[in-house]
Amino acid sequence: MIARVRLDLRLPKEFDYRIPPELDGQIDVGSRVKVPFGTREALGCVVALVDSSPRQDLRPILRAVGGASLLTPKVLELARWVADYYCCPLELALKSALPEAVRREQAGWKHQLWVRARPRTGDPPKLTPRQIEIWQVIQEWREMPLSQLLRIAQTTPDTIRRLEDRGLVTIQSQVSERDPYGQEELVATQPLELNPEQAAALASITAAHDPHRPPPVFLLHGVTGSGKTEVYLQAIAQTLRQDRGAIVLVPEISLTPQTVERFKARFQASEWRTLVAVLHSQLSAGERHDEWHKIRQGRARIVIGPRSAVFAPVDPLGLIIVDEEHEHSYKQEEAPRYHARDVAVVRGRQEGAVVVLGSATPSLESYYNARRGKYRLLELPARIDDRRLPVVRVVDLRLAQRKEKGPAIFSAPLLEAMRQRLERREQTMLFLNRRGYATSLQCPRCGYVAGCPNCSLSLTYHRQVQQLRCHLCGYAAPAPQACPQTGCANPAIRFSGLGTEKVETSLAKLLPQARITRMDSDTLKRKDDYRRILSEFRVGKIDILVGTQMIAKGLHFPNVTLVGIVYADLGLHLPDFRAGERTFQLLTQVAGRAGRGDVEGEVFIQAFTPFHPAIQYARRHDYVGFYEQEIEFRAQLNYPPVVRFAILTLEGRNEEKVSFSAGYLKKQLDQRLAGWKDLAVSEAAPAPLLRAESYYRYQILIRCPAMGRLSRELAALVTSIALPEDIRLTVDVDPVNLM
Ligand code: ADP
Ligand code: ZN
Repeated sequence: MIARVRLDLRLPKEFDYRIPPELDGQIDVGSRVKVPFGTREALGCVVALVDSSPRQDLRPILRAVGGASLLTPKVLELARWVADYYCCPLELALKSALPEAVRREQAGWKHQLWVRARPRTGDPPKLTPRQIEIWQVIQEWREMPLSQLLRIAQTTPDTIRRLEDRGLVTIQSQVSERDPYGQEELVATQPLELNPEQAAALASITAAHDPHRPPPVFLLHGVTGSGKTEVYLQAIAQTLRQDRGAIVLVPEISLTPQTVERFKARFQASEWRTLVAVLHSQLSAGERHDEWHKIRQGRARIVIGPRSAVFAPVDPLGLIIVDEEHEHSYKQEEAPRYHARDVAVVRGRQEGAVVVLGSATPSLESYYNARRGKYRLLELPARIDDRRLPVVRVVDLRLAQRKEKGPAIFSAPLLEAMRQRLERREQTMLFLNRRGYATSLQCPRCGYVAGCPNCSLSLTYHRQVQQLRCHLCGYAAPAPQACPQTGCANPAIRFSGLGTEKVETSLAKLLPQARITRMDSDTLKRKDDYRRILSEFRVGKIDILVGTQMIAKGLHFPNVTLVGIVYADLGLHLPDFRAGERTFQLLTQVAGRAGRGDVEGEVFIQAFTPFHPAIQYARRHDYVGFYEQEIEFRAQLNYPPVVRFAILTLEGRNEEKVSFSAGYLKKQLDQRLAGWKDLAVSEAAPAPLLRAESYYRYQILIRCPAMGRLSRELAALVTSIALPEDIRLTVDVDPVNLM
């Protein structure tokens, strides 16, 4: 037998190796193997087993890595699709499909020494008083990890060995599974009785498990608090009854302990006793290794994770849920630039699994597909128990300007509403999607603006640490006391623009009695800060929580009755055709945090452009209205989802070279794609963000009605085109980031 191996190295081909007799039966499609390569050794994945090879004198595989085959043939097929569609080499797609901790052979099961009391026979041996003490501890516990015993009994391994010599205990090495949620106390939950809309949605989803037909994709459009998660939970229960597993994709930012608990409490702590595996980036390599293998071994049949969990080796797979399907974090911003929602849809088709996409604000793409009959639309139009959606008031900041100094941060009505909440001991969330204190530093005398030396962006002032920072590349410098321009040195430099840090400090002055906490990536320093702040908020130790989009998503705090959006139009005027959609989604999500308990919620949206459709439709909770006008605009201007985009980006340190290469690439594209119908290739142009992390960037945009054939053509072009060494070409299919 011969194994065809894709090496982890960046080589766009496969190599054949002989399977030596001693590895007979251990190598399968999907196995990870160590093989000789030139004078070195390399790791790779077996992608096929074949009978003959065009090459003679094949070298043997050295070793199988990590036990049985790691990639299932199904996941391998999925990775191939990803590589083809997103124009990337297969080895990169395989890299995404297997977590690093599993791929590399370093991480493995953790072994721990356990001490166990042996059943006593005959006379007890003579022991010293100290040994008797320890022996009593062991007898009491019967068995425990050696490390724990050493700690409890304040003793040394040698002492325990002596007890072993006397035949009193055994010491054995055994696998100990790391459980990242081990300490959590779970209270089992039972299925809730569904309201009629939920029941109808569930019935459609479960009726879809038909082995004779390709399973449909559902779009579950339910307002915030409409009980989507309960529908997911019961759909998963149905899937388990059919002996199949489920994958639940959740945006990394919403993958909170609260979310995980809801799934574990239903399936792991209850009579289901089904392990729920969690894969997310906060896990240690060892934890991830263990979680992944629990899935591979079929012990965990429910997986929760961010985008990469779409590759989890659940087999057989019956259901994939993509919660908050509109979230952009489902798109990976480095190769393979896949969109997990779309990969989920493909995987569902390949494996006969039902796919449910859920959101309060579906992406234009998904709603468009539902309207065209590609997906089936399920709707939960009301909140649970007829709780009302919050009242949303839009405040025109142009009118609320304070006369004395600059624009107001808090309009009078918002400030008054916060005061009321303090008196009533209710809670407030204040949202601003920009961290730092001030977003630019200018010198009014010479016109100097502090910009990042590596990026075409201005630097943000962080007051607490007295630094200027670039939010793209991380560049940081001490904040100057005077204008740094030579010959100017004006001490009256001006900070302008607003970030969460300033919101927090200004608020503390206005409402000195309030307990205010800020949550953004600057205040989260340790691993458990996120959890700690949220639980303090939950128990009422915080009156007002100020934060970035980190507090916008998926949190459920019944005592929050007021939400303030400080500047709603921050993201509206970016050079990106999705700016309106993003703003609408964000406002709706943030507003959805209010009034989730018994008291009705109130939301203030402060804006400089209060009549923008994204703000007005969000105010009325009118998704469909927003969709209708937005899709018309997309159709008129030929934007997705009405057409497909692919963006080719060229990057390099020398702008002239990048621009020249872009012109050359444009010519090549025009030649190759001449005669293609309905396809448009833009001119090569500087990217909106011309310089990022000291690389200049030029782009070419291709619009086309469908992607499949174009992907193949682009992949061929990328591998054959001759570009200067220091120019990098990337292809982004269905981009979500146009900057
Ligand atoms: P969504 O995911 O749509 O935002 P959730 O699933 O978080 O909504 O539901 C909001 C709240 O309503 C949760 O506390 C949930 O336990 C509760 N809930 C959901 N369905 C029901 C039901 N059928 N009966 C009673 N409470 C429910
Ligand atoms: Zn920078």
